[in-house]
Amino acid sequence: MTHARAQLDARGLTPKKSLGQNFLMDAGVCARIARVACATAPTRMLEIGAGTGALTIALAALCSDLTAIEIDDHLISLLREREDLANVHFVHADALTFDYAAFAASGPWSVAGNLPYNIATPIVTRLVEMDDAPETLVVMVQRDVADRFAAKPGTPMYGSLSIAVQYSFDVERVFTLGPNAFFPRPKIDSTIVAFRKRAQPVAPVRDITLFRQVVRAAFAYRRKTLANSLHLALGHSRELITAAIRQSALSPEIRGEQLDIAAFARLADNLAAASI
Ligand code: SAM
Repeated sequence: MTHARAQLDARGLTPKKSLGQNFLMDAGVCARIARVACATAPTRMLEIGAGTGALTIALAALCSDLTAIEIDDHLISLLREREDLANVHFVHADALTFDYAAFAASGPWSVAGNLPYNIATPIVTRLVEMDDAPETLVVMVQRDVADRFAAKPGTPMYGSLSIAVQYSFDVERVFTLGPNAFFPRPKIDSTIVAFRKRAQPVAPVRDITLFRQVVRAAFAYRRKTLANSLHLALGHSRELITAAIRQSALSPEIRGEQLDIAAFARLADNLAAASI
C-alpha cells in the first residue's frame, strides 16, 4: 500500500485538519474493515471520504460496484489518476449535501467509510433516517460517538442519537483503533461501527416525525423529569402530557434516559392520539 504521506508528499500536499484528514496507514486494517463492510452488503457500495484511497482499494477488491465521494479537490484528482482504482466511480462532492436518495433509487446499497470526525454524526443520522436507507453502514467514528450510537437505556451515553440509529438498525461496535493507526495521529481513539438494517423498526409508530420530536424533547432537559422535559420542549400542556405518559404505563416522574424505544413509541402514539 502506498502510504498517504508518500502520496501527499509527491504532490506537495499536507493533511487538512478542517476536513478531518486522518488517513489509515495499515493495509491489513483496511482489509479487515472491507471484509466487515462487504460481508453481507449488496454489491452497490458507497464510500464516504475516500482520502488517498487506502480503504477504497480494499473495498474495490471485494465489491464490484463501488462509488466513492471525496470533497478535497487535490485528493479527488489524485484518486482519479490512480490506475489501480480505475474501476471505482469517484464523485467530487460534499457528503453533507450529496443526493443519497438519487443513489438509493437504483436499488439496495451500502455505505462504508472512515468518516471525517466533525461531520460523522449528521451523516450517519441522515442515512439511517432515509426512506431508502442503506442495508448496512460500516463506518469509523470517534470512540465516544460509537458508544453513544450503541448505548442502552439507563446508561450515561444513552440519548436521542442512540434511539435515532437503533430504531431501524442493529448497532455493533466491531473494533477500536488507537491514534497510531493514522497519519497524522488524532488525539482520540476510533471505533468501527457496523449498522445493519432491521427487517422492521423496533416498534412501528403512527407518526415518525412526532416520534423523533418526542425523543429529542425527552432528552432536551436531562436533569428534569420526562413530564417536565416534554412540557418545556414540546409546548403542550402539562395535563395532556401527564395523561399520555400514564396511558403509556409510565410514571411522569421517570427520566427520558430510562425509556427504551418501545416505550418512546407508545408515548409518541398516545401523544399523537391526545393532540388530535
Ligand atoms: N478513507 C481515507 C482513509 O481512511 O485513509 C480518508 C479518511 S479521512 C478520516 C476523511 C476523508 O473525508 C478525508 O479524505 C476528507 O477530505 C474527506 N471529507 C471531509 N469532509 C468531507 C465532506 N463533507 N464530504 C466528502 N468528503 C469529506
